[in-house]
Amino acid sequence: MQSLNKPIIFFDIDYTLFDTALFKKTNFTKYSLYEEVPSVLANLSKNLELGIFSQGDKDLQNSKLKVTKIDHFFQKEHIYIESEKEEKIKTIIEKYKNIQLYIAEDKLFILSLMKKENPDIFTIWIKRGVYAQNQKPIPDFMPDAVMYNLSGIIPLIDKKHGLTLHSY
Ligand SMILES: [Mg+2]
Repeated sequence: MQSLNKPIIFFDIDYTLFDTALFKKTNFTKYSLYEEVPSVLANLSKNLELGIFSQGDKDLQNSKLKVTKIDHFFQKEHIYIESEKEEKIKTIIEKYKNIQLYIAEDKLFILSLMKKENPDIFTIWIKRGVYAQNQKPIPDFMPDAVMYNLSGIIPLIDKKHGLTLHSY
């Protein structure tokens, strides 16, 4: 059954929104986003709900959103900050099973696990940072989209929405 809910896009934080390499290099003092992030989030928030699916310490991860002033883009009920991401995947997939989900993430294996749990999820591999650069292919898994920064998400989603409209 087609859901009337808005699609939701979940973002990872480290190396996806947040320049974690710079953070580490500056001894955890410089809180910085990748350049395109605020405008992409602002654009996407017109048609989608935005969520966070991140791993790490809750306070630290929340502070990364707050200090960089993007916390307001995300719906509180769609923010998941976990000590072990893998353990939360089933719960999230089940909770949002009737909603079109997008997930943007630099760790390929997280995308592969989510896809396995629900093939309808649209997986976007953000290929930047130390994990993505050292990633070997995962057998039998290809993300639905691969990009080097978030800007490509906008035309991708516009196109999917366009196709959805035409099919009615
Ligand atoms: Mg990450």
